[in-house]
Amino acid sequence: MAYLNENYLKLQAGYLFPEVARRVRAFYQANPEAAKRLIRCGIGDVTEPLPRAAIEAMKRAVDELGCRETFRGYGPEQGYEFLRSTIAQRDYRDRNIEIADDEIFVSDGSKCDCGHVLDILGGQNKVAVPDPAYPAYVDANVMAGHTGQVRQDGSYEGIHYLPCTAENHFVPEPPNEHLDLVYLCFPNNPTGAVASQGQLSRWVDYAREHDALLLFDAAYEAYIFDPEIPRSIFEIPGARECAMEFRSFSKNGGFTGVRCGFTVMPKTVLARTGDGRRLPLHPLWQRRWSTKSNSVSYPVQRGAEALYSDDGRKQVRALIDHYMGNAKLLRNAAADAGLEAFGGLNAPYIWVKTPERLTSWEMFDRMLRQLNVVITPGAGFGAQGEGYFRISAFNSRENAEEVVRRLKTLQSC
Ligand SMILES: *Cc1c(COP(=O)(O)O)cnc(C)c1O
Repeated sequence: MAYLNENYLKLQAGYLFPEVARRVRAFYQANPEAAKRLIRCGIGDVTEPLPRAAIEAMKRAVDELGCRETFRGYGPEQGYEFLRSTIAQRDYRDRNIEIADDEIFVSDGSKCDCGHVLDILGGQNKVAVPDPAYPAYVDANVMAGHTGQVRQDGSYEGIHYLPCTAENHFVPEPPNEHLDLVYLCFPNNPTGAVASQGQLSRWVDYAREHDALLLFDAAYEAYIFDPEIPRSIFEIPGARECAMEFRSFSKNGGFTGVRCGFTVMPKTVLARTGDGRRLPLHPLWQRRWSTKSNSVSYPVQRGAEALYSDDGRKQVRALIDHYMGNAKLLRNAAADAGLEAFGGLNAPYIWVKTPERLTSWEMFDRMLRQLNVVITPGAGFGAQGEGYFRISAFNSRENAEEVVRRLKTLQSC
């Protein structure tokens, strides 16, 4: 009999979204009438249709594949040159950030990249993740065998947690001890927090001092309105020596179902061998893609490219403005209901403190029963998420306005 990867057995059983689904289902069965009013502000998926520019580009690409003259088979494993150069130019060089075309690696999304990157990193690294955080960072490390067992509060032995609390405005400072790998995510899911130039500079300084690698998740960069807030870790001097960046077309172009993202791996990022040599990671990442992937389908890469066209940019802007309009309404409504609300200004998530010291699951149940609104309990994102819940702005305007009306009727028991 084959041996299984026992690291998978360490994963927490009652994982967040299945438990949300279970409670919603139970509510449906007990209250079929109220369930008809149900509005989901839970899972962080987009709701609005794709930008026209992307649809038309993808249709044209499919037609090309249907003609002998323009047919294409396997593409380059790291992504087509047309997309890599567009990304490097428009997202980076146009903004005075030095990134070469071949430092861009096209993928089927950032969630996938969070796991894949562990292929090229050693198992002995001291890994830090924010708490609360997007669950994929921790789980990918558990699966790769980089942790011990799970504790009572859902945290894992062998992971260094960086508490993100109201006191530090949900932006952790670098610790005094040594770390090798640090996941950072700004704008943040779930807290909606953003990091300033100064805060990110302190992380870059820390990484250079400790020879650490920053894994910077910028999936929500398009939601930054404040011109003072960096949209890329590479806006920080020195980051080319110590950071890689994860980006996605999921939350700007609405590609959550289409699937396309990319990583930026500068050729100047080094990591060490057990015998003390310092080698660039770029060739390993290049090799990883060549061996384990054939990149993303041609029509999808054309669709992603189209998001950078003049029409594409305007349509993406309209999508973001739509979601951020919801965020403003929801944040204000939460505050009017007497709740303490964070985020939602440069991010599509509002992070709300539960009233009366309720646990986040108690608040989930209250919102479900009283308002028939599904939110995400903070405890599902980490121990420090206890006492908070997340409202997502990914919704139709109609639904967001209805949630605003219902929040006015929220009662304390
Ligand atoms: C949605 C999201 C992503 C993007 O994931 P994809 O796999 O590209 O769809 C990445 N990071 C965070 C924190 C997210 O919330």
